[in-house]
Amino acid sequence: MVNLQSKKSFAMVDYERCSPKRCSPENGVCASVSACTHKVIKQIDGVFESPIVFQDLCMGCWDCIEACPLDAIQVRNV
Ligand code: SF4
Ligand code: SF4
Repeated sequence: MVNLQSKKSFAMVDYERCSPKRCSPENGVCASVSACTHKVIKQIDGVFESPIVFQDLCMGCWDCIEACPLDAIQVRNV
C-alpha cells in the first residue's frame, strides 16, 4: 500500500526569522511564494503576514529557500 506520509523532506518556514516587513517593506509580499512554481507556499493571511508551506504537496525543489533574503526557510526531514 502506498504510504502518503512517506515524504522525506520539505520546506518549513522559520517563524523566528521570517518577517515580511523586513524582507519586503514596500508591499509585504513574500518572494518565496512567487518562487514556488508548485504553488504550495502561500501567504494565506495576506501580505505582511508570514507564508505557510503545504508540506504534503511540497516537491523539495528548494526554490523558495533560494528566494528568501532572510534565510527564513529551511529543509525539514522526516
Ligand atoms: S519566507 Fe522569507 S521572503 Fe518570505 S516573507 Fe518570510 S522572510 Fe520574507
Ligand atoms: S521546496 Fe519547492 S515546492 Fe516546496 S515550497 Fe519550496 S519552492 Fe515550493
